[in-house]
Amino acid sequence: MDMQPIAAREGNHNLKDYEKARQSFDWEDVKKEFSWYETGKVNAAYETIDRHAENPAKKDQTALIYSSPDREETLTFHELKTMSNQFANVLKKHHVQKGDRVFLFMPRSPEFYASFFGILKVGAIAGPLFEAFMEQAVRDRLDDSGASMLITTPELLERVPQEELPELKKIVLVGYNEESDEKYIDYFHEMEQASEEFEIEWVDLEDGMLLHYTSGSTGKPKGVYHVHNAMIQHYATGNWVLDLKQDDIYWCTADPGWVTGTSYGIFAPWLNGVTNVIRGGRFTADSWYETIAKNNVTVWYTAPTALRKLVSAGEQTAKKYDLSSLRHVLSVGEPLNPEVITWGVKAFDLRIHDTWWMTETGAMLIVNLPDMDIRPGSMGKPIPGVEAAIIDNEGNELPPNQMGNLAIKQGWPSMMRAIWKNPGKYESYFINGWYVSGDSAYKDEDGYFWFQGRLDDVINTSGERVGPFEVESKLIEHPAVSEAGVIGKPDPERGEIIKAFITLNEGYEASDELVEDIRKFVKTGLSAHAAPREIEVKDTIPKTRSGKIMRRLLKSWELGLPTGDTSTLEE
Ligand code: ATP
Ligand code: MG
Repeated sequence: MDMQPIAAREGNHNLKDYEKARQSFDWEDVKKEFSWYETGKVNAAYETIDRHAENPAKKDQTALIYSSPDREETLTFHELKTMSNQFANVLKKHHVQKGDRVFLFMPRSPEFYASFFGILKVGAIAGPLFEAFMEQAVRDRLDDSGASMLITTPELLERVPQEELPELKKIVLVGYNEESDEKYIDYFHEMEQASEEFEIEWVDLEDGMLLHYTSGSTGKPKGVYHVHNAMIQHYATGNWVLDLKQDDIYWCTADPGWVTGTSYGIFAPWLNGVTNVIRGGRFTADSWYETIAKNNVTVWYTAPTALRKLVSAGEQTAKKYDLSSLRHVLSVGEPLNPEVITWGVKAFDLRIHDTWWMTETGAMLIVNLPDMDIRPGSMGKPIPGVEAAIIDNEGNELPPNQMGNLAIKQGWPSMMRAIWKNPGKYESYFINGWYVSGDSAYKDEDGYFWFQGRLDDVINTSGERVGPFEVESKLIEHPAVSEAGVIGKPDPERGEIIKAFITLNEGYEASDELVEDIRKFVKTGLSAHAAPREIEVKDTIPKTRSGKIMRRLLKSWELGLPTGDTSTLEE
């Protein structure tokens, strides 16, 4: 993209000189900031919550501001510590042990967070499931993980096919207040009786903490296993990239069913001791702006799909709200279209910082730091302590500006330690000491990385390799286009042709003239070979429940092929 870089500004974080920090970096120095570095007693729940609760200056600070359409509540660090202690006692009473998988299938709520930390406090592994999952998705994940306990609500229990899950021995129900029996444990009833004191199960940094299933954009979701050691990177990136300081009010829009909702919805903010806004309910532009304005959110971490919807809702919607509290905005999950960044400067007078990482990587790897120039369309540069490169299929590094596999040198703290019950799959990520992401990208002469698409999505047309992201970004710059998904469609002559699926902004009608105008717009703005030969206007574009465009579905529908795993497809 030939857009002007957006100049850096001063950040609060303790990484003032990126180049220098990279050269002299040692993860060992970050470890010194944790209490376990001196005490030897490790548990991420302790570092995230209890440590603040034991600090007189922080104990009564609001840790969580919860709001959903029918409930508003706040919890201090002290209260969160107490509630999670109580829940840890409930788990202990019901014989949950270190290493057991305890899954959560419930909406975001104060009980969710108390349960989550309770699970970590007994040394068990937490497995959060997105509340909108239907029966098949719930079954697959509980079965694969061998979960022995599930925490859910009476309403959601209907989507849990218990008879097909022999390993699932106990179910905690959050909803009634009744006596428990052998199998069904009543959350509120047991919490009332549970002691507020709990002796945390101290674990090893390499002990299991989380089992997260991936988004399912490219196929069947994988069970990604993370250990307590990941907290090192959650903490550091919370400081460097989210730019968090003690009095920030932070909002991460992701559900904890996805890795962003745990790494950056739970660990990073609370490890850094900030107030964390948690919001249930669905997206509308107005309700999201309202959340920022009402809570005076200062740092906001969200996703391109939401930002694109805000762009569609127009600047006039943004101007209705007082968003002056915002000082730092970030994005993850999909490529961030340059158009959205330009709009962000206009609408909020702020830069939007793209960050790249994956469920498997556990935390951010390639980012736009607050005091780095942003090149719109680029994911930024690797954080200190991380080495990234573009490699070919044999594991050789490619020169600048050449598209290839985006790969990371093994050895960052939050790296997954296994794909659950699938060592072969785990091994398949690695070549020559590189972790291969499955994304395709290039690196420019100045070390900025540019995402091109999923490896499988890169289009080969008349001998040219075209990344769908570039085409999609150009398409949505057209005033009529709201969202775009681009695929390669087999063609006898050209290998593949580019086909675009688009949705239109309000006020536009599909017509041959409009489609031709959009095609010309890409042709003159980008290049002739990247202009879609076919453009189809649709009412919606298929997305995962975490908001990612599912190109593989567009492709299988187009070609009349089987659709594969659709458990994460949004309705
Ligand atoms: P699955 O692995 O099940 O197919 P998924 O890859 O979408 O699903 P996640 O781990 O949630 O599951 O997402 C990681 C992927 O998201 C990355 O591999 C990349 O393709 C995309 N992604 C994340 N952040 C960015 C970003 N900033 N720019 C471009 N792509 C991104
Ligand atoms: Mg993936």
